[in-house]
Amino acid sequence: MFDLTNKVAVVTGGASGIGASCVEVLRSTGATVAVWDLHQVPGVIGTDVADPAAVRRSAEIVLDAHGRVDLLVNCAGVITQNLPAQDVDPADFRRNFDVNVMGIVNSSQALYSALAATGAGAIVNVASQAALMCLPHQSAYSASKGAVAALTRSLAIDWAGDNIRVNAVCPGFTLTPMAVQQMTPELNRAVSQRVPLGRMFQPEEIAQTIAFLGSSWASAVTGVVMPVDGGWTAGEPALPMGVE
Ligand code: NAD
Repeated sequence: MFDLTNKVAVVTGGASGIGASCVEVLRSTGATVAVWDLHQVPGVIGTDVADPAAVRRSAEIVLDAHGRVDLLVNCAGVITQNLPAQDVDPADFRRNFDVNVMGIVNSSQALYSALAATGAGAIVNVASQAALMCLPHQSAYSASKGAVAALTRSLAIDWAGDNIRVNAVCPGFTLTPMAVQQMTPELNRAVSQRVPLGRMFQPEEIAQTIAFLGSSWASAVTGVVMPVDGGWTAGEPALPMGVE
């Protein structure tokens, strides 16, 4: 296992689900981890990532406490109600973009100088399988995650000269509060047939990939938008292609 001792990480959305697993996995590798989340639970720096001034204040708190930031994991995200595209309220589109896209812009800009100062900074954005293969009745969420993929590549190019690596993961269905609220027995069955590995994922399976991308073990990797989806985006396993 790689060692992140003496490294400082910020995890947004770290109070729940994939973000909370990232905090655990990163701490297990020796990193000091600061958590930003809308939910103000003990040990968390209350932050709305959609608010640039709030994000700048949280960045100052971390830098005052630890003097550096080596890794930013942009995990905070929202999903809005399932609706056909013609019925989606523009406010829902805006909310998905404010948190899922602008949250990453705000956090990455606020920590850019600190990440550059380390000489080997890293950002890992949490996009979604919806960035690569859209989910039905989730146009706002899917569009926002597609933007996260493009933003990841843009930041990777712009900040390569500062030796800041920027990558993204695209999780498949992962058993967190966000996904469980969408789950029905029919969806559960459909996912297990559609996903080549035949199952949903535990948050730590996503967090381990994020920790790898954030570590020096991935020192040559930047601008990658990586599915962590059990093969969902690799192909269509349920097509009835007969074997002679
Ligand atoms: P979750 O709801 O368990 O956790 C999301 C966290 O983000 C919460 O703690 C929430 O308070 C925080 N958050 C929301 N808005 C915020 C804001 N404005 N500022 C700060 N924090 C905010 O959900 P999760 O499933 O762990 O999702 C984490 C990320 O993974 C999201 O970006 C989500 O889109 C993505 N994702 C999840 C799945 C899945 O199946 N669970 C699949 C693909 C992608």
